[in-house]
Amino acid sequence: MAGSYAELDGKIWIDGTLVDWKDANVHLLTHAMHYASAVFEGERAYSGKIFESRRHSKRLIASGRALDMEIPYSIDEIEAAKYETMKANGLDDAYVRVLAWRGAGEDMGVSSARNPVRMAVATWAWGNYYGDAKMKGAKLDIARWKRPSPETAPYTAKAAGLYMICTMSKHAAEAKGCSDAMMFDYRGYVAEATGANIFFVKNGEVHTPDPDCFLNGITRQTVLGMLRDRGIKVHERHIMPEELEGFEQCWLTGTAAEVTPVGQIGDYNFEVGELTRDIAESYEKLVRT
Ligand code: PMP
Repeated sequence: MAGSYAELDGKIWIDGTLVDWKDANVHLLTHAMHYASAVFEGERAYSGKIFESRRHSKRLIASGRALDMEIPYSIDEIEAAKYETMKANGLDDAYVRVLAWRGAGEDMGVSSARNPVRMAVATWAWGNYYGDAKMKGAKLDIARWKRPSPETAPYTAKAAGLYMICTMSKHAAEAKGCSDAMMFDYRGYVAEATGANIFFVKNGEVHTPDPDCFLNGITRQTVLGMLRDRGIKVHERHIMPEELEGFEQCWLTGTAAEVTPVGQIGDYNFEVGELTRDIAESYEKLVRT
């Protein structure tokens, strides 16, 4: 995409009203801008239907609660807002971003109890998150930032503040010609990429980190179901860095990433093998049924 996301044409839903794209603004003293009091969802619609839409809306509400922020809309109202926005923008295949945040209000310190919780929905056309990696495998850097301990951050929430280390990790990765970075967790176990979960294959079995300090993605859970249906043995467990050497295949899962094969993580190489291709293709079919 060329140009700024602030300058697209179309409509954005804010607090119950569709406004022109260029008018979807907030005040500089918005609490979320200063203290990361924001949660969001990333969803994809295929042929007019948002994949796992209600599950995403539910997660948004749960993310808000994890941040002490009650979102003033029901699941049904959030569903209606998403479809209304897609329709206003004439999109069938779309990325759907729902954002809820503490707005400007009587509080400007760390507390935000007296500030309104606001919500917006934006939709746009978005192709492959990792460009041509779908075919040849993405190249990943190893991040120097670690996923924090559950005592440090509300890891089940899809919360803006958790992405600070992801953005920095991704910048470092891109500077090295990589499309993303794999992060270890606070204990040194393999965790995930900056916006996607990770899977490995070895001897026909699948290994994926236990999501005990990072987002248990909806795509991850969908892919686990697909593997179960195939009778493939899956090990959800702690994975040590030195195990990367022995894995044969690797892929990422996420709403934006869908199922993206990984060809390289740091100095470790992986083949885009049969199971990876099968899962990627089957996921593409599943989201359109
Ligand atoms: N981890 C992180 C940090 C993410 O941002 C995402 C994308 N939402 C995921 C994992 C994958 O989650 P999902 O499959 O629900 O999109």
